Amino acid sequence: MSDEIYDITIIGGGPVGMFAGFYAGLRTAKFQIIESLSELGGQVNALYPEKTILDIPAYPAISGRDLVANLKKQLATMDGDIKLNQTVVNVEKVDDVFKVTTNKGITKTKAIIIAVGNGAFNPRKLSADGVETISDQQLVYTASDLDAFKNKKVLVAGGGDSAIDQALMLEDIADEVYLLHRRNEFRGLEHTVNLLKQSSVKLVTPYLIKSLENVDNNQVRVHAKKMKTDDEFIDIDVDKILVNYGFISNNKDMQGWNVDIEEDHHATKVDGNLQTNIKNIYAVGDQAKYDGKQTIIATGFGEVPITINAIMNDLYPGNRAPIHSTQLS
Ligand SMILES: Cc1cc2nc3c(=O)[nH]c(=O)nc-3n(C[C@H](O)[C@H](O)[C@H](O)COP(=O)(O)OP(=O)(O)OC[C@H]3O[C@@H](n4cnc5c(N)ncnc54)[C@H](O)[C@@H]3O)c2cc1C
Repeated sequence: MSDEIYDITIIGGGPVGMFAGFYAGLRTAKFQIIESLSELGGQVNALYPEKTILDIPAYPAISGRDLVANLKKQLATMDGDIKLNQTVVNVEKVDDVFKVTTNKGITKTKAIIIAVGNGAFNPRKLSADGVETISDQQLVYTASDLDAFKNKKVLVAGGGDSAIDQALMLEDIADEVYLLHRRNEFRGLEHTVNLLKQSSVKLVTPYLIKSLENVDNNQVRVHAKKMKTDDEFIDIDVDKILVNYGFISNNKDMQGWNVDIEEDHHATKVDGNLQTNIKNIYAVGDQAKYDGKQTIIATGFGEVPITINAIMNDLYPGNRAPIHSTQLS
């Protein structure tokens, strides 16, 4: 363990953790970001780099990839330690500081910001007869390689925002796009649902996939049953199926930490400064829970200055900073 003591350790290098790193630098905090994946960017980078995001302030539209690239550029203007491929497996209080243990070593820090999103995330899998006979090229859970959908007949399964986004994104790339959902109503933003209604995406509702079968021409036959009927079925032959049933995440790593952090529905309960029940441990982004919380990027970005300034005011009370960045840098 090195003798160096960080002011702030940010656990998780998703969009919110990255902005937290930048803002910590703006306040001249000695900081580190610890990220378990090999790249920064969290869900945006891992799950939807090609998606066009519409609700980032000052960007009428920006791809996930460009958003992460901009955050990296902004973070690089500050002098912090970015540690990739390291998972925090334990946090414990030792005297006045916290000991942070990863799979690669131990560091000490005065304050911690938990920015782990929903923890490790995995797509919720499709359950249907014959699913095990379908190849990984035909049945996919993320659209990270758009070229693979070029000129194909594609069925997107799911009824949430990201299923609609993916169907709309594929409209210009694939030959034909179906969107299959078990309800007639979609759970997307009104604007996105309107775009869907005006699009060429063929809606298959209210249907549930019952079985998959390999057929001629390397296609898959999707056999779906109309909801609330016993014998109304539809068969659609497609080249690719993109399932978007959401994600299952786990915070198993956090459960093993040696600090008793209060939870609320698998997220971390925080106060108005985003501080947990443990002094100097804070949470931001998708992991932070308070009344009215919305788990979107803009909310997480907004939480960052509150948190960093609260920490710095506590650690260095004589050093109260002005509110505007122009006065800080
Ligand atoms: C398909 C999809 C579409 C979305 N579309 C939008 C949208 O259009 N607009 C919008 O605002 N939001 C959208 N969101 C939500 C948005 O992605 C999240 O709100 C955002 O990613 C939260 O950022 P975060 O930094 O809090 O967490 P995350 O992005 O989840 O990042 C957390 C990071 O912490 C790391 N980590 C976890 N545990 C540990 C550990 N123990 N040690 C070290 N590192 C750890 C993870 O590897 C991950 O990189 C979407 C989400 C999905 C899934």
